[in-house]
Amino acid sequence: MIPDKEPNELKASLAHLQQAAIRFGATDSAVISSGDIRTDDNLAALCNGGYTCPNFGLAASCPPHVEGPEQFRKWQEKSRYSITVKIELPTSVMFSDERKEVMRLLHQVVSGVEKKAIESGFTQSKAFAGGSCKPLFCEENNTCCVVADKLSCRHMDEARPSMSGFGIDVIQLMNTSGWPVVQTKQNKGGSPEDSSWVAGLILVF
Ligand code: SF4
Repeated sequence: MIPDKEPNELKASLAHLQQAAIRFGATDSAVISSGDIRTDDNLAALCNGGYTCPNFGLAASCPPHVEGPEQFRKWQEKSRYSITVKIELPTSVMFSDERKEVMRLLHQVVSGVEKKAIESGFTQSKAFAGGSCKPLFCEENNTCCVVADKLSCRHMDEARPSMSGFGIDVIQLMNTSGWPVVQTKQNKGGSPEDSSWVAGLILVF
């Protein structure tokens, strides 16, 4: 929610970014105060915790190659407002191979909004998605060329880092956005009416 006292130009820019998110394929988009985003070092540590994520270390956009919660908080201090996005999908899709298509769309939505934000003058804006970009964009490649060969990302226009590696509390982010979270049960046979979601974030600054 943007306070009324904010200049009309800022309100219009943020509304424009929200609309762009929907146009790019998000089910919904919200404007939140960047100060309301909660990060937790322990959440970032989960990527290589008791259960190590199979994608840990494989891509430049996942730990230990990302800057982590400390740097996120520095960016957060510079940003007054952020755009959040969610894509709803049937639970049966969430736990099927089709999930990758939705996750790719999530990356495309947040990178598209980031690009629009930069074009609008918020030149340092940064987008975050969910899920490692390695299986989503570079499954056919043995390695991430950024990590292995210090080359540019093969999909720099689309792939964005996962919120997990920055310790972003996604459940709190959803609640702050006005989308109360109902925990998804892993139910491969899920009934058609079961629905799930994936979320992303653009820090605007
Ligand atoms: S090259 Fe592939 S794996 Fe590496 S950061 Fe880019 S999209 Fe991710």
